Amino acid sequence: MSIQQNIEHITSLIESAQTKFGRTKGSVQLLAVSKTKPVEAVLEAAQTGQVRFGENYVQEGVNKVEYFTQHHPDLNLEWHFIGPLQSNKTRPVAEHFAWVHTIDRAKIAQRLNDQRPEGMPPLQVLIQVNTSGETSKSGIDEQQLFELAQLISELPNLTLRGVMSIPENVSDYQQQLAAFKSLTQLKEKLAQRYPDIDTISMGMTGDMEAAIEAGSTIVRIGTAIFGQRDYSNKQ
Ligand SMILES: *Cc1c(COP(=O)(O)O)cnc(C)c1O
Repeated sequence: MSIQQNIEHITSLIESAQTKFGRTKGSVQLLAVSKTKPVEAVLEAAQTGQVRFGENYVQEGVNKVEYFTQHHPDLNLEWHFIGPLQSNKTRPVAEHFAWVHTIDRAKIAQRLNDQRPEGMPPLQVLIQVNTSGETSKSGIDEQQLFELAQLISELPNLTLRGVMSIPENVSDYQQQLAAFKSLTQLKEKLAQRYPDIDTISMGMTGDMEAAIEAGSTIVRIGTAIFGQRDYSNKQ
């Protein structure tokens, strides 16, 4: 199937899950995860009307943002950084992306705030939470979440929009659902304190339906749109 057909298929799956679980129409956005894929693949997806794209690697992502800003400014693509972020690589992210999903410590938040260029809108950020306990290495726990949220809420060039999680990869639906529901609960708690919180980034190709049932507002889909990835040129 073509990228266009894949997007149509995923979009209809999102719509039927919204209906099935009583979610508001249009409340779940599709983020097309284009890591390792060439600009031609992104362009094909964009020509279906897809505007939100996710990238994991700083240099690759920056190259694509620059390519589309230069050659297809009319498409107005919205770029989300969704990969692990080291503090020595925050500047290009602050300068090129609209969203960052993977903030997990104060130093990263502070640097992104300080390096966000004047004249750009605030960077929209999510805090990455660990919803799988000891089995997951990425993301922070509930207590750290509230400390970090407080810090971010005081940074003028960042807008805290919510939470993100990459739960342990399991095939059991009820297990997927339980991890996602715990993230939704954390988002609800945060939203009582901070007014701009409206986003839960969860759900990938293998667990999208459970994520939508549990309340996801952004699903991050790569494989089901662009096919399998080839990592042979990544370290
Ligand atoms: C690669 C990646 C995705 C997309 O995963 P698929 O299983 O290909 O849909 C989503 N989120 C993050 C953080 C990723 O790194």
